[in-house]
Amino acid sequence: MELKYTEEQVLDELKKARSRIPSLIFHGSYQAASTGPIIEGCRICTEMKSMSFVMGYRCNAECDFCFAPCYVWPKYDEDEKYNRSACFKEFKRNKDNIDGIGLSGGETLIYLDEIKDYVNKIREEKQNIYFWVYTNGIEANKQNLKVLKDLGVEEIRFNLAASDYSPAVINKLGIARELFKYVAVEVPSYPEQKDKLINNLGKMQYHKIDQLNLQELLINNNNFDKIKGEIYQSGIMFAKKYFLYGSRKLTYEIIETCLDRGYSFTVNDCSASRFGRIE
Ligand code: SF4
Repeated sequence: MELKYTEEQVLDELKKARSRIPSLIFHGSYQAASTGPIIEGCRICTEMKSMSFVMGYRCNAECDFCFAPCYVWPKYDEDEKYNRSACFKEFKRNKDNIDGIGLSGGETLIYLDEIKDYVNKIREEKQNIYFWVYTNGIEANKQNLKVLKDLGVEEIRFNLAASDYSPAVINKLGIARELFKYVAVEVPSYPEQKDKLINNLGKMQYHKIDQLNLQELLINNNNFDKIKGEIYQSGIMFAKKYFLYGSRKLTYEIIETCLDRGYSFTVNDCSASRFGRIE
């Protein structure tokens, strides 16, 4: 496949964009750069002391941009049990080097019983482990968010892009704000959704979120056919990954918009292209 853009071009654009924002803060060995202090889950991640625990790939949304192998209807129950058990074993093996766990999916709120089960099991292994949860927010309500809070989860991240920035889901940030120490919005930087994202920044400020995480959009076999735009290759051989061209550019447009508007929340540029590499 012939690619129109190279990683070099993207990194050059990134350098120029970053040079326009002298106040950016860089975070150690990961590639993240932010406009302010980062939430605890991100701090742990930038120190490479985090683990992603996938509860299952069942989801109540069907996002075009989703790079996970998600499905709507319950299936693969046995596989999912096996996968959770494998994640737990991995945690037990590496627990001395893990300070925090991001519970992800699929849609995590579908797996509330399994979350209860594993949070308790993990705490038996390591009492002071830090948890955060990713959700698309569609099924979020006071009751299920309270269950997470009572389990000791201190941080929640909403993918508002999954509901195309539905006002009903955005309002749930208000419920989360009353329950969690850290509330974040974490969305892919997808130029197709640029207007929706920009138009809803004010509501994120209104609900007093702590952080907006903008992910460079990863492209793989799960979303390649559904995504609009050009892709570029990052890294070579085993480190090879593909991303949407223009995603990172949009991240810096949003960062500049938020700084111009004086919003109080941190905006974080998060790309998986350099996980673990020293900048
Ligand atoms: S909500 Fe998240 S897990 Fe579900 S389809 Fe969308 S991106 Fe994938």
